[in-house]
Parts: sequence; structure tokens; C-alpha cells
Amino acid sequence: MLPLVEQDVIDGVPVLRSTGVAGRHAAALMFRVGQFDEALPVRGITHAVEHLTFGGHHEAHYEFNAGVDGWYTRYLVESGDPADIAAYLRAVCEGLAADHGAILDRERRILRTEAASRGGAGMLGSCLVERYGARGPGVLNYPELGLERLTWADVAAWRARWFTAGNAVLWIAGDRPDGLRLPLPDGPARPAPAAVPLPATRPAYLTGAKGGLAAGLVADRSFPPHAAQDVLKRRLTQALRHDRGLTYDVGLGVQEIDPDHLHTWLTADVLPEQVPMAAHVLLSTFETLATAGAQEAELADYRRRIQERYESPAGPVALLDHQARAVLNGRPRRSAAESIRLAAEVTSADLAKATQSLWDSMLVAAPYDVPAIQGRMGRAPSFSARAITGGKVHKPVAGDSPTLTVSDQGVTFTRAPGEHVTVDYADAAALLSFNDGKRSLIGGDGFTIVLDPAQWKNGAAVVSTVTARIPEGLVLPLDRPGPATPAPQPAAGQPGKSGSASQPAAATRKDRLLRIVTGQTFLVACLGVLLVGGVVWASVSGSQGSAPLGLVAAVLVGRLIARNFRRRRRR
Ligand SMILES: [Zn+2]
Repeated sequence: MLPLVEQDVIDGVPVLRSTGVAGRHAAALMFRVGQFDEALPVRGITHAVEHLTFGGHHEAHYEFNAGVDGWYTRYLVESGDPADIAAYLRAVCEGLAADHGAILDRERRILRTEAASRGGAGMLGSCLVERYGARGPGVLNYPELGLERLTWADVAAWRARWFTAGNAVLWIAGDRPDGLRLPLPDGPARPAPAAVPLPATRPAYLTGAKGGLAAGLVADRSFPPHAAQDVLKRRLTQALRHDRGLTYDVGLGVQEIDPDHLHTWLTADVLPEQVPMAAHVLLSTFETLATAGAQEAELADYRRRIQERYESPAGPVALLDHQARAVLNGRPRRSAAESIRLAAEVTSADLAKATQSLWDSMLVAAPYDVPAIQGRMGRAPSFSARAITGGKVHKPVAGDSPTLTVSDQGVTFTRAPGEHVTVDYADAAALLSFNDGKRSLIGGDGFTIVLDPAQWKNGAAVVSTVTARIPEGLVLPLDRPGPATPAPQPAAGQPGKSGSASQPAAATRKDRLLRIVTGQTFLVACLGVLLVGGVVWASVSGSQGSAPLGLVAAVLVGRLIARNFRRRRRR
């Protein structure tokens, strides 16, 4: 039987309800705010609001958690007694209104500790910053920089802007509790904006990936690309794992990049020496699907999986979460029956066309240069397309190279002729101010210049000239030393076209020193470890997060991860 959803309103908050698993009740209070709303100087502020909701402490006999992903913040609860749902939601609303200024410092420390154990966004972050720059989805590439300087006034203002009845939705899988109240302040709906990619040539590739191959793909939120990815994953698993034994796991991680588009992070773990062959298999499988489409049996399997997922015990939760996101973004809700009908309409030709469109959006991340990739696409640019003109050219303390050109418009770091990294002041996303005098100037396109006073003749004056041009609100004082400055390169040095050598070490888009290399981490929150399962499913329902879904679904279907859940629960 397919889950049905009824809609209601409580205290100005839309409430979606469906039947859950008999005897259990789950709910999520969702707000339309997440990491992608955060400019770099306030990175982490939504996570801070989420942690501070209970003043850092909430004990209960029922299961609860909260998480922040790209566009949404969720407060989740699950219990056998509907009264617990009401009690928890009331505590959340009251916690969002309370003054937690006294514990902000302690909670900031906890958040930074959590971030350190979680690690960074790795190559996924690199690909997102390559596509979107240091804004919107690209901010996932950066740590929660704002945690270092946020005041309680900042947190309270953020909360007042986003955590309102008009920007919230509640879903319940189970019974509606008696006397349920959602005392939140009034405020407008704030649908997610469109994510605007930087102008660029696609497909393209990056190097520096660890552990295998990955590809970032962007598609509109429709069923043909979803079906294409479903078939692609199955074909790749067959070819890479079962036929050739090159891969342990082919993964698909789906993230809502804006209300109309999904980003898929396709991964295949591969031993370093097997990368050339695996890349060939991956890309040629892609090409075959784009050319010939899928077989009828593959489409039938796809349709069956969609149907079964809606009918599974996790179906209501996934449907509710999908519809909740639609409500938050002012989009129509889609029923399970309609999704199944749309999935059934996908033809082999639709699927082939969608595969081609995915290909045309592709950013491949490989450990190193591979002929199979180089033969099909170019490298994403390692340098800015242009340099500042007419400024003052500064030389290093020793030698003639690199140079730093500073004008009234911006800064260009030039490692060698034609190898520029440029940041315009007007486009700066942040200036990191380290306690040893170094600065990192991050441009809106993600290109970053590290300014070290010790590197340049009259360096202190040069650096202060640049920093004086950056608005105060973009400056982030960090109580730690800046990144190491590399020894100047010989002017005749051949930077090379291969691998990481083509990135100037003092100026890079990826700002490696900020990154900690790990796997995929879309949900930067207390739920990080639960980002498993239901990924293809998630994109059908249009979900990106999948962690809260996976969480609640797993709790509903048998508390498979209850132990993990408890260990991870915020205290
Ligand atoms: Zn957390």
C-alpha cells in the first residue's frame, strides 16, 4: 500500500502526517536554512543554533537528534508514545526562544571538536567549489570558520531570521499527539535560492582524489536522470566489481543543490594502480548508456524499486521529508502514486538523453592524470582566467618570482608567466586573518591567495594595503598561525601540466590547508556517521540529506542503528 499524506496547520506551521510503523511515532520539525545559506564569515552558524537549542543539554527517554545539511535543519524524534513527540517539539520551540549566550563559548568549543573529528568535505568539497565558487553549495568546501568569532547577538539574529513558523514545516509518521503546540515566532517563508554555477567548460577533471575515482553530476529534479543514475550504478557495479574486481563499492550520494537541481557524487573506490583501467570502464559505461539507452529489463527493475521503496516501512518517512521540502520551497507536493507514474513514463530514449546531460555536467575527480580521462575532457583550470592590470608589482624578498600585483581593484599572485591567481576586492568571500600576520584572501570563485608579509619586500605594508580594502564583515580573525609559505620557485621552473604540480602552492583554489581529506560529508551535523543507505531512494524523493531519512527510517524498521544513534546524540 502506498503512503498517503494529509496536511494541517498548527500555530502557523504546516503539518504533514502519514501513517508510520504500527506502534511507533516519528516526527521532524524542519526549517528552511542550512549550510548553503551561510557566507564564509558565518560558516557554522546554523549548526551553532542547532546545538544551542537545548542549551547544550537535553535528557529524555525517547530518541531524538538534530542535523543541518545544505538547505535544511531538522529536529527529529521517535517514540512509542505520541506525547513524547509533543514534549520534544515544545522543548525545541522553547529552546529556540531562550537566551543561551552564557554557554556560547563552551558550545563553540564542542562544535569545533565535532568538526575536527568529522573531517572535511574532501574532493567533494573541491568539486563543489570548482562549480559554485566560495558561495552557496561551494561553502561545503570550507570549515565552520564563523564559529571562531560568532557572538551571541550573531546567533540570536540568525535564529530570528530563519527559525520562524513561516519558514518551518513539521512532518509526523504516526499519530498526531494531543495538545501539540509549536510556539515559534512569526516570519516569512524563505525558499532556497537557485544555485548559480561559475562559467566553465564541462565535462572537466581534477586530480588529487584519494582512494579512487569520483564524479560530480548535476541534473534537474526529474525522473529520467534519476533512472539514468540508477542504471549507471548497477552497470558500474557489475563491470567494476563483479566482472573486473577493480572496485569494492560504487556509491551515489545525492544532494539537493537548489529546489530544482540535484548534485550526485558518484564514487568508485579503486587501488592506485587500477585507476587507469577503472577510469576507462567508468567513462565508457557512461558513454554506452548515453548512446544506446537502457534495456527494457533495466527500466522494469527501476520501476519496481521505486514502487517497493514507497511501499517499504521507510516509505512514509521519505515521502514526508520530500513533501516537507517542497512546502518549504513553495513547490507543489507530489504523491507517491504520481512519482511512481512519472518513473514509469521514463523511456530508454529519455534515459539516454538524461545520461548525456549528466555527462555534460560532469566533474571527474581522479588521483592523478589518466589517459582515459585526458582523452575525453580537459582539466579544470588551475589558474584565474585573467590578471590584475595596472597595479604595483611586488617582488619576493629573494629573487624575481613569484610576484604579487596589487591595484585598486584587487590582487594577482603570479607564479610564472600566464599562471595567475586573481582575487578582486569586490568579489572577496572572506579574508582569514591568522595570528602570525599571514592572511588568506578567498575570492568568490574559490581562488585563494595566501599573503605572507615575510615573503615580500616591504611585506607588512603590502599585506596591510590589501587587507585594508576588504570590508570588516569579511575579515575572520583566527587564533592560529597561517599556512606555511613555500620557498620561492625558480623563475625557470617548469610548473608542469601534470598532477598537483600545476597548483601554485601559495595560491590555490582548493586551499588545501583548510581542508582535511576524507570522504563525503554533506550533512555537517550530529548525524554525520549515519549518511548511509537510501541514496538512490533519496533522490527519487528528491532528498539530499538521506541521513535524517536513513536515521528515522532505520529506527522505524527495526532500530538497526540505535546504538550508533545514542552514541552520537548531542549532550
Ligand atoms: Zn553537531
